[in-house]
Amino acid sequence: MASKQFQTVDELDLRQDLHHREVEIELLQETFSEIGSELDLERVFQIVAERARDLVQAQTLLIPILDDNCETYTYRGGAGVHAKEIVGESLPLDFGICGWVWRHKKAWWRGVLDELSDEERNYWEKEAGSVILIPLQGKRHFLGGIAGFNKRGEEEFDRRDLNMLSMFASIVSIAIENAMAVQKMEEVRQLTEDYQIQLQRLNRQLSESNRELEYLSLYDTVTGLPNRSLFRDRFTQHLALAQAQGQRFGLLLIDLNNFKEINETLGHERGDQVLKNVARRFLAYLGGNNILSRLGGDEFALLLPDVDRAQSLRHAGHLLQQLDAPFDIDSMTIAVSASIGVSLFPEHGADISTLLRHTDLAMFRAKTGKRGVSLYDPVADHSSPGMLMMTADLRKALEQQEFELYYQPKVNLRNNRIDSVEALGRWQHPQRGFVSSTMFIRVLEQTGMIDRYTHWVIETAIEQIRLWQSQQRDIRIAVNISTQTLMNPDFMIYLEGLDSIADSGGNLQFEITENLFLSEYDRLCETLGYICQLGITLSIDDFGTGYSSLGRLKKLPVSELKIDCSFIMDMDKSVDDEVIVHSTIELAHNLGLSVVAEGVESEKTCQRLLEMGCDMAQGFLISKPVPIEQFERFLAEWGN
Ligand code: C2E
Ligand code: MG
Ligand code: MG
Repeated sequence: MASKQFQTVDELDLRQDLHHREVEIELLQETFSEIGSELDLERVFQIVAERARDLVQAQTLLIPILDDNCETYTYRGGAGVHAKEIVGESLPLDFGICGWVWRHKKAWWRGVLDELSDEERNYWEKEAGSVILIPLQGKRHFLGGIAGFNKRGEEEFDRRDLNMLSMFASIVSIAIENAMAVQKMEEVRQLTEDYQIQLQRLNRQLSESNRELEYLSLYDTVTGLPNRSLFRDRFTQHLALAQAQGQRFGLLLIDLNNFKEINETLGHERGDQVLKNVARRFLAYLGGNNILSRLGGDEFALLLPDVDRAQSLRHAGHLLQQLDAPFDIDSMTIAVSASIGVSLFPEHGADISTLLRHTDLAMFRAKTGKRGVSLYDPVADHSSPGMLMMTADLRKALEQQEFELYYQPKVNLRNNRIDSVEALGRWQHPQRGFVSSTMFIRVLEQTGMIDRYTHWVIETAIEQIRLWQSQQRDIRIAVNISTQTLMNPDFMIYLEGLDSIADSGGNLQFEITENLFLSEYDRLCETLGYICQLGITLSIDDFGTGYSSLGRLKKLPVSELKIDCSFIMDMDKSVDDEVIVHSTIELAHNLGLSVVAEGVESEKTCQRLLEMGCDMAQGFLISKPVPIEQFERFLAEWGN
């Protein structure tokens, strides 16, 4: 009986145990199926916490997880009393439960941890009572732990709880580790995706700016033509091709005349418009088979494939013709002309730098000789000094006062007296002899030295006027003033400070060029007005070569007009020129201006000018420009 009763108790226990087991196994199965399909890590922690709490009947269950830094841990999941407040808290690893688990890598299930410090112990005793702790050990890493606090029903956690929770932990830890890995991967994937999007965007930006940069580094933004470096590149390619195939080609350098003045007087924006329009006309003429580029400033280069001397020169002439019609820009009519240097491959050079240098020399000769087009001439071009050397030499010349003023008389046709002269600069290079004044003036202008030079001319002229005055001789001296100097505000300041002007007694005259009338009208009026107030008279030089109208002149304080020598010299051969000269004299007189004819070389021309009522004549017929001593002798002989 007793044994039966025993059996019954045993049976009962067993049955109860089995039931427990079934419930537990069911719980475990549910847990695994739930977390196995769960991808959200926080949800995994939450499920684990709830199930573990049920498994060991804890009042509170927390899941501390070691953070990536391995210095702190965070309660990532929790269920039961106070769990909500605690989840999300982080603590240093050497503190509290997780720290203990981390240090020992083993479980605890009886009462409060005896290895906690007194302070911590009190805390856990007060707050928790009893604790069950199981490490969560993943396959690769230590993850953290599962901590149950206070068994429900005032019981203690027992070995069964320990075993159950340990088994539970060993299985869920893998699921947790996997979920953590998935989350990490997801984070990394997201990051990579973001990076990729960013990278793609950056790549796009980069290739766009690369394209822009490439464009900027190879093309000229004003005209859209290839720039100097792309030109060199294409030139080199073409040269190699021409050499391989035994082909010839022509190289042209096209330089606009007086572009500096257009830029300075009309402003850079209009200057750019001019360049753009010039490029457009050239392209329209050339069509496709060529390499036209803008080398910079007002200089264009053109490579004409497979052309001979005659064809190159013909193309050059046609290019100049493209500029015949003036440009209409901002309702202004702007006349543009150019000088073209031509060289040929293979006659004039076998490499790019030689060919460019030779074409440049030809262009320089075209410009200084006022010839339009000039073909490279080995003899002539090598005897003219290069620009670079000239700049250095001119700087020295300015410092050492190597310049000299020559004087050319203007004869008064009414009384045959010489009452005025033009002072013209001369420069004798120590080795090369006289350098053409057109050439050195151009270099002085281009290198910004013209102001200093002009000051010297003015002061030298004033000194001469004063000397003549001391001898009771009343002769006016005209000096040439470059547009650049005239339009420079510093020039007015210079004149203001020049006390000797007062001593010139009205005998100082400035010759200014017609191109000036392209300038800002108001500023020009102001400048010229100021000069007149100082007692300096104004003369318009080279009249007829620009595009100004006499009507515009009317409003300016100008007293003299010089008809350009190109009209005078051909007057006896060209009826057109004679008509132009005649009508210019009449119109000028109507405006109250006196007229000087430049370039009078023959008696016949002089006679004709007299008949037309021209006031003064200047030219080789009367005298070439000569040094002062010779001029004095000339005056004495003239009977002045
Ligand atoms: P420009 O002011 O028109 O000077 C007249 C030029 O014509 C001078 O050339 C003179 O020698 C030349 N000429 C005079 N009569 C005759 C003639 O009957 N036949 C021919 N074929 N030519 C004649 P030059 O001295 O070579 O000067 C050339 C230009 O250089 C001048 O033209 C002027 O624009 C410029 N220039 C000369 N000296 C100066 C200067 O001191 N300052 C500035 N800014 N320019 C100067
Ligand atoms: Mg002059
Ligand atoms: Mg002149």
